[in-house]
Amino acid sequence: MEQTFVILKPSTIQRSLVGDVLTRFQRKGLFITGIKMMQLDEQILRIHYAHLVDRPFFPMLVNSMTVTPVIVMVLKGKDAVAVVRSMVGATNCRNAAPGTIRGDFGMSGQENIVHASDSPENAVIEINRFFKPEEIFDYPIPTLAATYAPDEIDQ
Ligand code: UDP
Ligand code: MG
Repeated sequence: MEQTFVILKPSTIQRSLVGDVLTRFQRKGLFITGIKMMQLDEQILRIHYAHLVDRPFFPMLVNSMTVTPVIVMVLKGKDAVAVVRSMVGATNCRNAAPGTIRGDFGMSGQENIVHASDSPENAVIEINRFFKPEEIFDYPIPTLAATYAPDEIDQ
């Protein structure tokens, strides 16, 4: 089953929204296979946001992402990358549809609550960037049979 990578950004920690955001993912039926708090720095952000390093707002983004620790996690589910991206919504919270996480919890383009991988290929790269193999857990999920039809589970 597919895994995707999510960061609960510093604004989410500071605004005490960790539980609300996590609850959304869990209620959807995604399973947590890895989760930890960590302090990001400019070095890892220059890699993680390599597509943005030349943009004028990049120093502001680095400051925003390092002002407190973040919570990084790996979520598992069928088509998890696309499902989580659609739950997260548009980059700018002011444009994000109501019902999405950014649409419901944010007002900013920068302080937009979460990062989520944008493709299965990037999800694998990002999971390996932030987690050691032994920090990802493969454990029995008794509710799996109530979450999916048998032919949707490709173990
Ligand atoms: N960002 C920003 N201003 C912009 C574009 C992006 O501050 O004009 C920040 C924002 O926090 C965003 C992150 O940079 O989540 C990564 O940008 P990306 O285009 O990858 O958006 P995402 O995949 O997070 O929706
Ligand atoms: Mg992105």
